[in-house]
Amino acid sequence: MSTLTVGVDLGGTNTRAGLVTGGGEIVGRARYPTRLDLGSDAVVGGIADCVRGAISDGGVDPSKVGGVGVGSPGPLNLETGVIISPENLPCMRGVPLKALLESELGRTVAVDNDANLAAYGEQWMGVGRGVGNFLCVTLGTGIGGGWVADGKLMRGFNGNAAEIGHISLNLNGPRCPCGNHGCFELYASATAMVRRTRERLSQEQPETMLEPDGLTTEAISRAAEAGDAFAAEMFEQTGFLMGAGLVSLVNVMNVEMIALAGGMARAGERLFEPARRTFLERGTVGVKEFVRIVPAALGDDAGILGAARLARDAAAER
Ligand SMILES: [Zn+2]
Repeated sequence: MSTLTVGVDLGGTNTRAGLVTGGGEIVGRARYPTRLDLGSDAVVGGIADCVRGAISDGGVDPSKVGGVGVGSPGPLNLETGVIISPENLPCMRGVPLKALLESELGRTVAVDNDANLAAYGEQWMGVGRGVGNFLCVTLGTGIGGGWVADGKLMRGFNGNAAEIGHISLNLNGPRCPCGNHGCFELYASATAMVRRTRERLSQEQPETMLEPDGLTTEAISRAAEAGDAFAAEMFEQTGFLMGAGLVSLVNVMNVEMIALAGGMARAGERLFEPARRTFLERGTVGVKEFVRIVPAALGDDAGILGAARLARDAAAER
């Protein structure tokens, strides 16, 4: 088996690839805009160019490079590598990504959900290194999850394990596009935090430096840092919701570490302290004392490394 593989992170804005050694070092990189406007052929062609770009950037003989792993927004069929219906890649619906890339690149291609692969990368080379039972929670528009149990990435019967954004925190809450009500991501994602903050700004007119226009979790974090009590309260509330959701997840998964990833996690203790406090108030005795809730370490590289690791697994199984 070749020690070098390529990991690709297919995003709605950019496609990024890394040439990765067996030891988890990224030795070549490429990044292209994802041309959703030009349709699926252009997107697939862009991924292939990105893979070639990373190999060339690494300055290695292409014949020395093994397979390719691709992390894509889900849901997807992991066996056939067909993208089913990703909300942020509308032109990719039903596209047989694995088969198209294999014929374009002449290499074995494995695909998985991007949140799964971010977790797999963090557990390989990031904060979860050496932690066999690990959950990575990606906070963004929604809440993505990737779960490693006994060192293995958990996929479930059709690849949709750890869709943690859709556990219900409120049975009578608002309807989620997934079909459930009051989903975790409707309360504790970055988008949800911004929406809740905006609602309170318009309904209560609190004393704050925050403006409803162009509001982001970064802006709320900066305001809290500057002593804005309303902004600090929004983090307190979001941390509480986060901690409450994590209690349910740990009761199912029995992970020993939870890493929070995504821009909102950069708010640091403002988010983590109330999350940990709520987790300790509500978690199960004998478990909660041992669970670490920590920031993820790898940023955007987590997905690339997880995808490269997936490619190694696929080669080992052949
Ligand atoms: Zn949902």
